[in-house]
Amino acid sequence: MSSYNKLLHTYTKEFDEKGISLETVKLFLFELCNENKVNLYLDLDKEALPVIEERFREGVKRILDGEPLNYVLGYTYFFGYKMLVNGDVLIPRYETEELIGLILSKTDEYCKDMDKIVAADIGTGSGAIAIALAKEEKKFEMSATDISSEAVEVAKANAKLNKAKISFMVGDMLEPIKEKGIKLDVLISNPPYIPSEEVMEKSVIDYEPHVALFGGSDGLKFYRMIFEGHKDVMKEHGMLFFEIGYDQKERITKLAREYFENAHIEVLKDINGKDRMLWIRY
Ligand code: SAM
Ligand code: GLN
Repeated sequence: MSSYNKLLHTYTKEFDEKGISLETVKLFLFELCNENKVNLYLDLDKEALPVIEERFREGVKRILDGEPLNYVLGYTYFFGYKMLVNGDVLIPRYETEELIGLILSKTDEYCKDMDKIVAADIGTGSGAIAIALAKEEKKFEMSATDISSEAVEVAKANAKLNKAKISFMVGDMLEPIKEKGIKLDVLISNPPYIPSEEVMEKSVIDYEPHVALFGGSDGLKFYRMIFEGHKDVMKEHGMLFFEIGYDQKERITKLAREYFENAHIEVLKDINGKDRMLWIRY
Protein backbone atom coordinates (compact mmCIF):
# COMPACT_ATOMS: atom_id res chain seq x y z
CA MET A 1 0.00 0.00 0.00
CA SER A 2 1.31 3.44 -0.95
CA SER A 3 0.16 7.03 -1.02
CA TYR A 4 -0.29 8.66 -4.43
CA ASN A 5 2.77 10.75 -3.75
CA LYS A 6 4.86 7.72 -2.93
CA LEU A 7 3.59 5.89 -6.02
CA LEU A 8 4.63 8.84 -8.17
CA HIS A 9 8.14 8.78 -6.86
CA THR A 10 8.66 5.01 -6.79
CA TYR A 11 9.83 4.94 -10.40
CA THR A 12 11.73 8.22 -10.61
CA LYS A 13 15.07 6.54 -11.11
CA GLU A 14 13.85 4.19 -13.86
CA PHE A 15 12.15 7.04 -15.65
CA ASP A 16 15.26 9.17 -15.41
CA GLU A 17 17.33 6.38 -16.87
CA LYS A 18 14.94 5.98 -19.81
CA GLY A 19 14.62 9.73 -20.35
CA ILE A 20 10.89 9.74 -19.58
CA SER A 21 9.75 12.86 -17.71
CA LEU A 22 8.02 12.81 -14.35
CA GLU A 23 5.29 14.89 -16.04
CA THR A 24 4.31 11.88 -18.15
CA VAL A 25 3.96 9.73 -15.03
CA LYS A 26 2.02 12.45 -13.26
CA LEU A 27 -0.34 12.82 -16.18
CA PHE A 28 -0.88 9.06 -16.21
CA LEU A 29 -1.69 8.95 -12.51
CA PHE A 30 -3.84 12.07 -12.83
CA GLU A 31 -5.95 10.43 -15.56
CA LEU A 32 -6.32 7.19 -13.60
CA CYS A 33 -7.46 9.21 -10.57
CA ASN A 34 -9.89 11.19 -12.70
CA GLU A 35 -11.44 7.99 -14.03
CA ASN A 36 -12.03 6.94 -10.43
CA LYS A 37 -13.26 10.35 -9.29
CA VAL A 38 -10.24 10.94 -7.08
CA ASN A 39 -8.64 14.37 -6.99
CA LEU A 40 -4.95 13.56 -7.13
CA TYR A 41 -3.80 16.92 -5.84
CA LEU A 42 -6.15 17.00 -2.86
CA ASP A 43 -5.49 13.38 -1.97
CA LEU A 44 -1.78 13.28 -2.73
CA ASP A 45 -0.86 11.95 0.70
CA LYS A 46 -3.82 9.59 1.08
CA GLU A 47 -3.52 5.89 0.52
CA ALA A 48 -4.03 5.02 -3.15
CA LEU A 49 -7.15 3.10 -4.14
CA PRO A 50 -6.06 -0.48 -4.93
CA VAL A 51 -7.62 -0.33 -8.41
CA ILE A 52 -5.59 2.78 -9.22
CA GLU A 53 -2.38 1.42 -7.75
CA GLU A 54 -2.70 -1.79 -9.73
CA ARG A 55 -3.36 -0.05 -13.05
CA PHE A 56 -0.61 2.44 -12.34
CA ARG A 57 2.05 -0.17 -11.65
CA GLU A 58 1.00 -2.25 -14.65
CA GLY A 59 0.88 0.81 -16.93
CA VAL A 60 4.21 2.17 -15.76
CA LYS A 61 5.86 -1.06 -16.90
CA ARG A 62 4.48 -0.53 -20.41
CA ILE A 63 5.52 3.11 -20.42
CA LEU A 64 9.02 2.11 -19.30
CA ASP A 65 9.10 -0.34 -22.21
CA GLY A 66 8.54 2.63 -24.52
CA GLU A 67 4.80 2.33 -25.21
CA PRO A 68 3.14 5.74 -25.76
CA LEU A 69 1.13 6.94 -22.76
CA ASN A 70 -2.09 7.24 -24.76
CA TYR A 71 -2.08 3.58 -25.79
CA VAL A 72 -1.57 2.62 -22.16
CA LEU A 73 -4.45 4.85 -21.11
CA GLY A 74 -6.56 3.77 -24.08
CA TYR A 75 -7.55 7.31 -25.00
CA THR A 76 -6.38 10.81 -25.78
CA TYR A 77 -8.02 14.20 -26.25
CA PHE A 78 -8.31 15.83 -29.65
CA PHE A 79 -9.71 19.33 -30.06
CA GLY A 80 -11.29 18.84 -26.64
CA TYR A 81 -12.99 15.56 -27.55
CA LYS A 82 -12.10 12.27 -25.93
CA MET A 83 -10.87 9.74 -28.51
CA LEU A 84 -10.28 6.08 -27.81
CA VAL A 85 -7.04 4.78 -29.27
CA ASN A 86 -5.36 1.41 -29.57
CA GLY A 87 -2.52 -0.05 -31.61
CA ASP A 88 -4.73 -0.10 -34.73
CA VAL A 89 -4.80 3.68 -34.99
CA LEU A 90 -2.34 6.55 -34.97
CA ILE A 91 -2.55 8.72 -31.86
CA PRO A 92 -3.93 12.02 -33.17
CA ARG A 93 -1.29 14.75 -33.01
CA TYR A 94 -1.45 18.36 -31.82
CA GLU A 95 -0.46 19.53 -35.31
CA THR A 96 -3.65 17.98 -36.65
CA GLU A 97 -5.74 20.10 -34.28
CA GLU A 98 -4.36 23.09 -36.12
CA LEU A 99 -5.65 21.60 -39.37
CA ILE A 100 -9.12 21.54 -37.81
CA GLY A 101 -8.76 25.23 -36.97
CA LEU A 102 -7.78 26.02 -40.55
CA ILE A 103 -10.69 24.05 -42.04
CA LEU A 104 -13.22 25.68 -39.73
CA SER A 105 -12.02 29.16 -40.55
CA LYS A 106 -11.87 28.58 -44.32
CA THR A 107 -15.28 26.91 -44.49
CA ASP A 108 -16.65 29.74 -42.41
CA GLU A 109 -15.30 32.18 -44.95
CA TYR A 110 -16.07 30.35 -48.18
CA CYS A 111 -19.14 28.21 -47.39
CA LYS A 112 -21.15 30.89 -45.60
CA ASP A 113 -24.09 30.69 -47.99
CA MET A 114 -24.28 26.91 -48.10
CA ASP A 115 -26.82 25.00 -45.99
CA LYS A 116 -24.74 21.88 -46.00
CA ILE A 117 -21.14 21.07 -46.76
CA VAL A 118 -20.51 17.61 -48.16
CA ALA A 119 -17.15 16.52 -46.79
CA ALA A 120 -14.95 13.46 -46.42
CA ASP A 121 -11.95 12.56 -44.29
CA ILE A 122 -9.73 10.11 -46.18
CA GLY A 123 -7.63 7.84 -43.92
CA THR A 124 -9.63 8.67 -40.83
CA GLY A 125 -7.78 6.42 -38.35
CA SER A 126 -9.31 7.08 -34.93
CA GLY A 127 -11.87 9.33 -36.64
CA ALA A 128 -10.43 12.37 -34.88
CA ILE A 129 -10.62 14.81 -37.82
CA ALA A 130 -14.08 13.78 -39.02
CA ILE A 131 -15.53 13.79 -35.51
CA ALA A 132 -14.07 17.13 -34.41
CA LEU A 133 -15.29 18.78 -37.62
CA ALA A 134 -18.77 17.26 -37.44
CA LYS A 135 -19.09 18.39 -33.83
CA GLU A 136 -17.82 21.91 -34.46
CA GLU A 137 -19.75 22.69 -37.65
CA LYS A 138 -23.25 21.30 -37.96
CA LYS A 139 -23.34 22.00 -41.71
CA PHE A 140 -20.89 19.19 -42.42
CA GLU A 141 -22.36 16.08 -43.96
CA MET A 142 -19.37 13.94 -43.16
CA SER A 143 -18.04 10.67 -44.58
CA ALA A 144 -14.84 9.03 -43.41
CA THR A 145 -12.84 6.20 -44.91
CA ASP A 146 -9.88 4.03 -44.05
CA ILE A 147 -8.24 0.98 -45.59
CA SER A 148 -8.00 -0.58 -42.15
CA SER A 149 -11.28 -2.09 -40.97
CA GLU A 150 -9.81 -2.25 -37.46
CA ALA A 151 -9.24 1.51 -37.54
CA VAL A 152 -12.81 2.09 -38.76
CA GLU A 153 -14.10 0.11 -35.77
CA VAL A 154 -12.21 2.46 -33.43
CA ALA A 155 -13.50 5.48 -35.37
CA LYS A 156 -17.08 4.24 -35.10
CA ALA A 157 -16.71 3.81 -31.35
CA ASN A 158 -15.37 7.36 -31.14
CA ALA A 159 -18.25 8.75 -33.18
CA LYS A 160 -20.65 7.03 -30.82
CA LEU A 161 -18.79 8.27 -27.75
CA ASN A 162 -18.91 11.83 -29.04
CA LYS A 163 -22.40 11.59 -30.54
CA ALA A 164 -21.17 12.56 -34.00
CA LYS A 165 -23.05 11.56 -37.15
CA ILE A 166 -20.60 10.22 -39.71
CA SER A 167 -20.86 7.72 -42.51
CA PHE A 168 -17.89 5.34 -42.29
CA MET A 169 -16.52 3.25 -45.14
CA VAL A 170 -13.66 0.80 -45.48
CA GLY A 171 -11.63 1.01 -48.67
CA ASP A 172 -8.64 2.24 -50.61
CA MET A 173 -8.30 6.03 -50.69
CA LEU A 174 -11.07 7.59 -52.87
CA GLU A 175 -12.63 4.29 -53.96
CA PRO A 176 -15.48 4.16 -51.39
CA ILE A 177 -16.46 7.77 -52.15
CA LYS A 178 -16.40 7.05 -55.89
CA GLU A 179 -18.42 3.88 -55.50
CA LYS A 180 -21.12 5.70 -53.59
CA GLY A 181 -21.16 8.50 -56.16
CA ILE A 182 -20.62 11.13 -53.46
CA LYS A 183 -19.60 14.58 -54.73
CA LEU A 184 -17.66 16.60 -52.20
CA ASP A 185 -17.41 20.28 -51.37
CA VAL A 186 -14.52 19.61 -49.03
CA LEU A 187 -11.95 16.81 -48.91
CA ILE A 188 -9.64 16.38 -45.95
CA SER A 189 -6.77 14.00 -45.48
CA ASN A 190 -3.87 13.45 -43.13
CA PRO A 191 -2.43 10.55 -45.10
CA PRO A 192 0.67 8.58 -44.20
CA TYR A 193 3.47 10.89 -45.36
CA ILE A 194 6.70 9.57 -43.95
CA PRO A 195 9.14 8.30 -46.58
CA SER A 196 9.52 4.52 -46.26
CA GLU A 197 13.21 4.67 -45.46
CA GLU A 198 13.03 7.39 -42.80
CA VAL A 199 14.58 6.69 -39.40
CA MET A 200 12.00 7.33 -36.70
CA GLU A 201 11.52 7.52 -32.97
CA LYS A 202 11.43 4.03 -31.49
CA SER A 203 8.15 4.48 -29.61
CA VAL A 204 6.45 5.44 -32.90
CA ILE A 205 7.97 2.64 -34.98
CA ASP A 206 7.42 -0.04 -32.36
CA TYR A 207 3.87 0.83 -31.40
CA GLU A 208 2.04 2.86 -34.07
CA PRO A 209 0.56 1.11 -37.12
CA HIS A 210 2.94 1.32 -40.07
CA VAL A 211 0.00 1.57 -42.47
CA ALA A 212 -0.69 4.95 -40.84
CA LEU A 213 2.84 6.26 -41.21
CA PHE A 214 4.56 5.48 -44.47
CA GLY A 215 3.72 7.16 -47.76
CA GLY A 216 5.98 5.41 -50.25
CA SER A 217 9.59 6.17 -51.13
CA ASP A 218 9.11 9.97 -51.31
CA GLY A 219 6.26 10.18 -48.79
CA LEU A 220 3.97 11.66 -51.43
CA LYS A 221 2.23 8.52 -52.70
CA PHE A 222 -1.16 9.22 -51.13
CA TYR A 223 -1.27 12.91 -52.10
CA ARG A 224 -0.58 11.83 -55.67
CA MET A 225 -3.49 9.36 -55.52
CA ILE A 226 -5.88 12.02 -54.23
CA PHE A 227 -4.71 14.69 -56.70
CA GLU A 228 -5.09 12.21 -59.56
CA GLY A 229 -8.59 11.18 -58.58
CA HIS A 230 -9.99 14.47 -57.31
CA LYS A 231 -12.21 15.08 -60.35
CA ASP A 232 -14.09 11.84 -59.67
CA VAL A 233 -15.10 12.82 -56.16
CA MET A 234 -15.22 16.62 -56.01
CA LYS A 235 -17.85 19.09 -57.16
CA GLU A 236 -16.95 21.70 -59.73
CA HIS A 237 -15.80 24.07 -57.00
CA GLY A 238 -14.30 22.88 -53.80
CA MET A 239 -11.55 22.88 -51.24
CA LEU A 240 -9.01 20.27 -50.21
CA PHE A 241 -7.09 20.28 -46.94
CA PHE A 242 -4.10 18.12 -46.07
CA GLU A 243 -1.61 17.69 -43.33
CA ILE A 244 1.91 17.47 -44.79
CA GLY A 245 5.44 16.74 -43.60
CA TYR A 246 7.49 19.76 -42.51
CA ASP A 247 9.94 19.32 -45.42
CA GLN A 248 7.44 18.63 -48.22
CA LYS A 249 6.27 22.15 -49.10
CA GLU A 250 8.17 22.65 -52.38
CA ARG A 251 7.63 19.16 -53.76
CA ILE A 252 3.98 18.99 -52.82
CA THR A 253 3.17 22.47 -54.16
CA LYS A 254 4.79 21.54 -57.45
CA LEU A 255 2.88 18.28 -57.56
CA ALA A 256 -0.42 19.98 -56.73
CA ARG A 257 0.12 22.54 -59.49
CA GLU A 258 0.24 19.71 -62.04
CA TYR A 259 -3.30 18.68 -61.14
CA PHE A 260 -4.90 21.99 -60.09
CA GLU A 261 -3.82 24.43 -62.78
CA ASN A 262 -5.81 27.48 -61.78
CA ALA A 263 -6.40 26.79 -58.13
CA HIS A 264 -5.25 28.74 -55.11
CA ILE A 265 -2.59 26.52 -53.53
CA GLU A 266 -1.16 27.50 -50.17
CA VAL A 267 1.01 25.87 -47.53
CA LEU A 268 0.50 27.04 -43.96
CA LYS A 269 2.73 26.67 -40.95
CA ASP A 270 1.98 25.04 -37.62
CA ILE A 271 2.49 26.67 -34.24
CA ASN A 272 6.14 25.64 -34.27
CA GLY A 273 6.73 27.52 -37.50
CA LYS A 274 6.94 24.33 -39.57
CA ASP A 275 5.20 23.91 -42.93
CA ARG A 276 2.32 21.62 -42.01
CA MET A 277 -0.91 22.23 -43.93
CA LEU A 278 -1.82 22.33 -47.58
CA TRP A 279 -4.94 24.17 -48.70
CA ILE A 280 -6.27 24.03 -52.24
CA ARG A 281 -9.29 26.02 -53.40
CA TYR A 282 -10.59 25.97 -56.95
N1 SAM B 1 -6.76 10.88 -39.76
C1 SAM B 1 -6.10 10.32 -38.59
C2 SAM B 1 -5.40 11.42 -37.82
O1 SAM B 1 -5.20 12.50 -38.40
O2 SAM B 1 -5.05 11.22 -36.67
C3 SAM B 1 -5.11 9.23 -39.00
C4 SAM B 1 -4.03 9.67 -39.90
S1 SAM B 1 -2.81 8.44 -40.24
C5 SAM B 1 -1.42 9.47 -40.53
C6 SAM B 1 -3.20 7.84 -41.86
C7 SAM B 1 -4.39 6.90 -41.96
O3 SAM B 1 -4.51 6.50 -43.35
C8 SAM B 1 -4.28 5.61 -41.18
O4 SAM B 1 -5.42 5.45 -40.38
C9 SAM B 1 -4.20 4.50 -42.24
O5 SAM B 1 -4.84 3.30 -41.86
C10 SAM B 1 -4.89 5.14 -43.41
N2 SAM B 1 -4.51 4.59 -44.72
C11 SAM B 1 -3.30 4.10 -45.11
N3 SAM B 1 -3.35 3.69 -46.38
C12 SAM B 1 -4.61 3.92 -46.83
C13 SAM B 1 -5.28 3.70 -48.06
N4 SAM B 1 -4.66 3.15 -49.11
N5 SAM B 1 -6.58 4.05 -48.16
C14 SAM B 1 -7.23 4.61 -47.11
N6 SAM B 1 -6.65 4.84 -45.91
C15 SAM B 1 -5.34 4.51 -45.76
N1 GLN C 1 3.03 13.34 -37.78
C1 GLN C 1 3.15 11.91 -37.63
C2 GLN C 1 4.51 11.54 -37.05
O1 GLN C 1 5.42 12.32 -37.11
C3 GLN C 1 2.96 11.21 -38.96
C4 GLN C 1 1.61 11.44 -39.49
C5 GLN C 1 1.50 11.13 -40.93
O2 GLN C 1 2.27 10.42 -41.56
N2 GLN C 1 0.48 11.68 -41.48
O3 GLN C 1 4.67 10.47 -36.51
